[in-house]
Amino acid sequence: MNKTELTDVIIIGAGPCGLFGVFQFGLIKLRCRVIDVLPEVGGQCSTIYPKKPIYDIPGSPEVLAGKLIKNLEKQIKTFEPIFSLGEKVLKINKKRNKKIEVITNKGNKYTAKVVVIAGGLGCFEPRKPKIENITEYEKTKIDYFVTEPEKYKNKNVVISGGGDSALDWAIFLAEKKYCKTLTLIHRSERFRGHLDSVDKIINLSKKNKINLMLNSQVTNISSEKITINKKQKLNYDFWIPLFGLSPKLGPIAEWGLNLENNKIKVRTYDYKTNLNGVYAIGDINTYKGKLNLILCGFHEAALAAQSAYKYINPDKKFLLKYTTVSGVNKF
Ligand SMILES: Cc1cc2nc3c(=O)[nH]c(=O)nc-3n(C[C@H](O)[C@H](O)[C@H](O)COP(=O)(O)OP(=O)(O)OC[C@H]3O[C@@H](n4cnc5c(N)ncnc54)[C@H](O)[C@@H]3O)c2cc1C
Repeated sequence: MNKTELTDVIIIGAGPCGLFGVFQFGLIKLRCRVIDVLPEVGGQCSTIYPKKPIYDIPGSPEVLAGKLIKNLEKQIKTFEPIFSLGEKVLKINKKRNKKIEVITNKGNKYTAKVVVIAGGLGCFEPRKPKIENITEYEKTKIDYFVTEPEKYKNKNVVISGGGDSALDWAIFLAEKKYCKTLTLIHRSERFRGHLDSVDKIINLSKKNKINLMLNSQVTNISSEKITINKKQKLNYDFWIPLFGLSPKLGPIAEWGLNLENNKIKVRTYDYKTNLNGVYAIGDINTYKGKLNLILCGFHEAALAAQSAYKYINPDKKFLLKYTTVSGVNKF
């Protein structure tokens, strides 16, 4: 169903900077919708390095990237952001009444008074296996993300990949005993995933809960069978190739924004773009001295929020209040 809904702010990108934006806007009583093409929040922290420690977040001497995202989710919960996950923003249109319309690949139209682009490196897109007829089966038999594990109940499922996503989903599905058969195919004998997960996979395979096929690759697919290493055939209902994600600037390039080297040019005191009511924060923006660090994106979120408040409420005076004094109050 296509929706048209209004919030004060739309944030495009649910990476760390987009999430912290919800907090900064929440403090000044502006409600946010956060849209991300991925099915889960966290941007690079969740997709590229969830288990790597980060040492340069002020006040947190060491925090795993995945834990930082969990903490941010907790911090913004009180401001009840609306998440539209698994949706790619295709277009933004300025409306006559100063409002901005955002259109997604699901045909949804969302409207806001201001838009903050926190699109990081761009849209993360799955790395697809190089198989000629793959597009024929993408809508019915192939999943590049796992969004509804229930659909694999009593089905023949094949996962391909040797990184954390492939291992984590294979373990999850095997431990839940969801599938009729579960096969994990990996092209080498060595995995890239966490050592703990590798141990679990080997144990589950010894208990016949996972059919583990190493030094193997899917070389062909048809509606019912998957071919491995050009000879062995396997019945399957779903194939889940999890070969990681690669970022692409994507539709952002076509929104009439001033760009430099695939980044959005912003003015440095409030991170506004060349379009009124449109800001860009985090890795997606560029200015003299820019650093692609989470801490810089957090700072940009705070200043963009203040400027957006004045843009939305030109007649109101803005008063900075410390959260130690004001508290963090719900709407
Ligand atoms: C291996 C590695 C280690 C790092 N270590 C550190 C570190 O120690 N300290 C540090 O400060 N930084 C570190 N960084 C950098 C840090 O991860 C980035 O600065 C940070 O993720 C930027 O956050 P962001 O919110 O701007 O963007 P991202 O995290 O890139 O999130 C952007 C989100 O926008 C979404 N998106 C983009 N376009 C669209 C669209 N059209 N529609 C819908 N959604 C869209 C994407 O899907 C993505 O989820 C590291 C990066 C890497 C790769």
